[in-house]
Amino acid sequence: MRIKAFILLSLMSLGLLAGEPSKTIFIDVAHGGKDSGAQIEGVSEKDLCLALALKVQELAKKSSMEVILVRSDDRFVSLQERAQQINASEAELFISLHFGVKSSDSPGGLSFHYSEEQSELDQSLSLIQSLEKSLATLFPESQRVAGSFFLLKEAQIPGVLVEFANLNSPEELQYWTSEENQWQVAAAILEGI
Ligand SMILES: [Zn+2]
Repeated sequence: MRIKAFILLSLMSLGLLAGEPSKTIFIDVAHGGKDSGAQIEGVSEKDLCLALALKVQELAKKSSMEVILVRSDDRFVSLQERAQQINASEAELFISLHFGVKSSDSPGGLSFHYSEEQSELDQSLSLIQSLEKSLATLFPESQRVAGSFFLLKEAQIPGVLVEFANLNSPEELQYWTSEENQWQVAAAILEGI
């Protein structure tokens, strides 16, 4: 009886019986509401970010990972509010999803933005490394960019700002408006986190 009780308690503490997630991650779905972000030919960055984030969340349901989204519909969330949500989430890490728009129409590719002032810089760089690997089959080339971003500085957990594409590139705009491609990227993101 004692052994059984011990096993039961161990399982409960591991969260296996309660069905608790093994890992919780936070997705900062960029822009929203009055803030559309980049806009090209009727495509808004805010919609692409949400479409991708919802797919990551959907795929995560099949694993024991929990994905918290800063917004799951089209509404405005201030940067301060985003930082507060990240820090209150008790998530292990966060990723901020963005799409770029440049003046040229050449492809923008994939870039990972981090800040030297991040509180969890080493872990954030490990996260970037892992995402680089998991996304490499879809995007063989990516770059790391150091910058100064409010969210990266305010967040107390490891995180990265990922920017996909240059929506001004017809090639990339076409790629990203495909639901199938979005599912593929969502799966690769999930693998990397
Ligand atoms: Zn953006």
